[in-house]
Amino acid sequence: MNKCPQCGASVEMGAAKCKYCGENLAPQQAPPPAFNQQQMPQQQMPPPMYGQQPMYQQKPPNPPGHGLSIASMILGILAAANAWYGGGFVVGIIGLILGVIGKKKNAEVGAPTGMAMAGIVLSIISLSWGLICIISCIACTGAATSSVWW
Ligand SMILES: [Zn+2]
Repeated sequence: MNKCPQCGASVEMGAAKCKYCGENLAPQQAPPPAFNQQQMPQQQMPPPMYGQQPMYQQKPPNPPGHGLSIASMILGILAAANAWYGGGFVVGIIGLILGVIGKKKNAEVGAPTGMAMAGIVLSIISLSWGLICIISCIACTGAATSSVWW
């Protein structure tokens, strides 16, 4: 047996309400179903929104030519750093090709082409500087080995 906290009358265990005063005797059993019903719609709502957000967020920061532009700029810097002895020649060619492709792809989606342009310019400077070094080296060795001054 249980006692009603409102009127003190004896009521049956597990009775939802006091039959004398109508006091709710089982308030703890009511919230759980209500709590579950509230959470179910909240858990079902997010998935469609969550599926739309990644697609929207991924598009702007990753244009197709973005990686190529970065690679081109890095290769351009590497080529420029090694151009003084002609070592940047091959790296410069790769950097130039990547830069041209990266610039074209970025231009297609309307993304900024500044980084690809930097890679192209650095690669061209390195290529021309490397070419001068190679020609002058061939001229030097040619002049030294043939022992003919010209
Ligand atoms: Zn009561």
